[in-house]
Amino acid sequence: MVELSQREQVLQAIRGLAAYGLGPNIGGHVSVRVPGKPEFYINAFDKTFEEMQLRDIALLDFDGKVIECETHVSPGLTFHHGIYKQRPDVHAIVHTHGFWLTAQSAFGRPVRTLHNLTTYFHGRTCISPSDDFTAIGPALAADDVAIIIPWHGAITIGKNIGDAAALHVTLDYAARLDVTMPATAPEMPDALREELASVLRRANYLDLTWNLIRRKGVDAYDGKRVIPGLAN
Ligand SMILES: [Zn+2]
Repeated sequence: MVELSQREQVLQAIRGLAAYGLGPNIGGHVSVRVPGKPEFYINAFDKTFEEMQLRDIALLDFDGKVIECETHVSPGLTFHHGIYKQRPDVHAIVHTHGFWLTAQSAFGRPVRTLHNLTTYFHGRTCISPSDDFTAIGPALAADDVAIIIPWHGAITIGKNIGDAAALHVTLDYAARLDVTMPATAPEMPDALREELASVLRRANYLDLTWNLIRRKGVDAYDGKRVIPGLAN
């Protein structure tokens, strides 16, 4: 398999997330850390995920200074370098305002454990009052993989772009369950939760989901933009 540049990896994730319907509007960003340097690649702000091209991926440093960019970067991405500084294990970050993630965020709590895929987030979700790193930083625990920003959206973080993107579409699925299932729906018992989490790890679910995200992104791209309807 051809090794993609980091800029290409960001675009690949963005197109896959767009295929899932997670990028129809302005806003949301995907970043990857540059190994060994206080820098990261991140998408620009003036287009949707569906429209992004390689030239829309910018390079910034950990002070938020733009090193390479052909368009505009978001004014609200300080949490990217904040998280990279606080969590050296994190190498990629995904933030969207996916419809179900945004709907669930209004509850201001983690997703309920209503399905085996929800086990990824049990005890590993931070609730932050805003997307400013001064709010996220103190709330973010050492092994958290998801951040819910009430009335706003969600962030997932991973050891690589594949994990961050796969966790994001998985959190979107879990959020849809959370929002649509009644308050009386029973949550999974602890013993079953641990067993199912272990099955998912053994099955390499996140790696398989990352492969799926990439396939969907390719299938849904018509040469100019991603058309989510073709992939879902
Ligand atoms: Zn946002």
